[in-house]
Amino acid sequence: MTSSFLISLKCSKCDEVYSSDEVQTICQVCRSTLLAQYDLEAAGRVIDRDEISTLKGRMWRWKPILPVLDYDNIVTLGEGDTPLLKTDRLGQILDFPNLFIKDESSNPTGTFKARGLASAISKANEFDIHKVIIPTAGNAGGAMAAYAARSGMQAQVLMPDDSASANIQEAEAYGGEVKLVKGLINDAGQLAINLAFTEGWFNVATFREPYRVEGKKIMAYEIAEAFNWELPEVFIYPTGGGTGLVGMWNAFHEMLTMGWLEKEELPRMVAVQSEGCAPVVKAFESGADKMEYWPGASTIASGLRVPDSFAGHLILSALRESQGIAIAVSDSEILEALKQLATSEGIFAAPEGAATLAGFKKLLDSKWIKTDERVVLFNTGTGLKYIK
Ligand SMILES: *Cc1c(COP(=O)(O)O)cnc(C)c1O
Ligand SMILES: [Zn+2]
Repeated sequence: MTSSFLISLKCSKCDEVYSSDEVQTICQVCRSTLLAQYDLEAAGRVIDRDEISTLKGRMWRWKPILPVLDYDNIVTLGEGDTPLLKTDRLGQILDFPNLFIKDESSNPTGTFKARGLASAISKANEFDIHKVIIPTAGNAGGAMAAYAARSGMQAQVLMPDDSASANIQEAEAYGGEVKLVKGLINDAGQLAINLAFTEGWFNVATFREPYRVEGKKIMAYEIAEAFNWELPEVFIYPTGGGTGLVGMWNAFHEMLTMGWLEKEELPRMVAVQSEGCAPVVKAFESGADKMEYWPGASTIASGLRVPDSFAGHLILSALRESQGIAIAVSDSEILEALKQLATSEGIFAAPEGAATLAGFKKLLDSKWIKTDERVVLFNTGTGLKYIK
């Protein structure tokens, strides 16, 4: 097997190119997110997508298009290769034949945050980094602390002081030092920036570190593989910081460049948010190209309680380029969908995952989604983490 085809990092706004052989954070020119670049021409020639399907190693089956150069540096707990479930009973109730759920609840630490943190911590390990810090709405903190423990790094986790006790206890169980911050994830984010500067922690905040998004993009590869490289028409994603949405949108373009897709048409990307915190929906509907801070953010879907994303421009351009849409659902619609998913399919979803079903029902009612289309919902975590 070849090594990774990673060649550089590129600014997502001003196109400035950076070396991927050194530790990087954000663009030094315009302070925007850096994205990993691979030699996709070579990758397309060398990698046989069907051979990858015969491999073991879950998310790391795709390691030539992940950022770790020396595979000995990979830190894994068995993330990825989650089930893609066809929902026949729910589909019958909703009179919709091709509804699928990518069920991320079986990942280590119970959410898909494991994918991004496995990638970021593996790359940090490659750079011999020993101290990592993260601002989190809850789930990313546990995931980072787990992978830090697995690789012998020191972990500091900054989360809102009203975070669920499951999130606090989990991060502490892995030996993470948890600091409860007055305010929301963006307040924790400012503190992480300060502590990274004053105490030398490496900050793995969403989109301020280039490689979390790479782990999450692999969801798109697994789904493309499951559909025999004929991508479904609609992806419905519960959007907080937007890592998975942006990662998958980039992944589709990688697949196109490598010549892996059977049809050129890409899925319409849908961002679902909660009515109590819907900055993406607001920006999308107003035609803005960046997000505004959402004051007083509040929702039971803690992963969606992100009042501002550092990479709002990337979320909005993915939605628009894909002919997608952004839609808000209420907490009571989320709870109703959560119950429906559990009783009809045996999936006890995180509220964020249930939100995608609530959003789907609205888009089906409004005929934005047609009955003959194939739709993938993302259940991003297990409901067990939300029990009070
Ligand atoms: C973080 C999180 C989200 C949002 O993910 P982003 O990629 O940051 O938008 C959704 N669901 C759950 C369970 C999460 O923990
Ligand atoms: Zn830049």
